[in-house]
Amino acid sequence: MSVTKDHTVSDGTPRFPVTLRCGFCLTLNRIDLVRAESRPRCGECAKPMLLDRPVKVQEEDFERTVLQAGSPVLVDFYADWCAPCKMVAPLMDEMAHEHTGRLLVVKVDTDQAPGIAQRFQIRSIPTVILFVDGLEVERSLGFEPERVRRLVEEGVA
Ligand SMILES: [Zn+2]
Repeated sequence: MSVTKDHTVSDGTPRFPVTLRCGFCLTLNRIDLVRAESRPRCGECAKPMLLDRPVKVQEEDFERTVLQAGSPVLVDFYADWCAPCKMVAPLMDEMAHEHTGRLLVVKVDTDQAPGIAQRFQIRSIPTVILFVDGLEVERSLGFEPERVRRLVEEGVA
């Protein structure tokens, strides 16, 4: 099936292929985000792939899960010891819930992903970045809910 540049198939259905690791058995699954509402299951262990909430991404998966995603991706760079990051977490939950099927929301623990943090010049946390087609579109530093909401609205439009 041919996919046009605006990520639709011939009948106009959006198509957002993403590669995600199963939270249970850690197998990589390739799934279409637009199927999120129908609760896709892991091809290996058949447990549900939960797409209406942020997904934790390790450094080794960043390239294929975030940069090669067919959907916009909102990335929350955080660390467990960071108090302001705990204010951003519910906002990420909200974004994932509100835009299920159109936006992939992931979180990256910068302590466990130093290479990624360096590559994207994360100098303070929390930092939230919107990626589209593997490129950074915009970033938000600290707790900026209005800014994050606006960039997501623009990103999924
Ligand atoms: Zn699995």
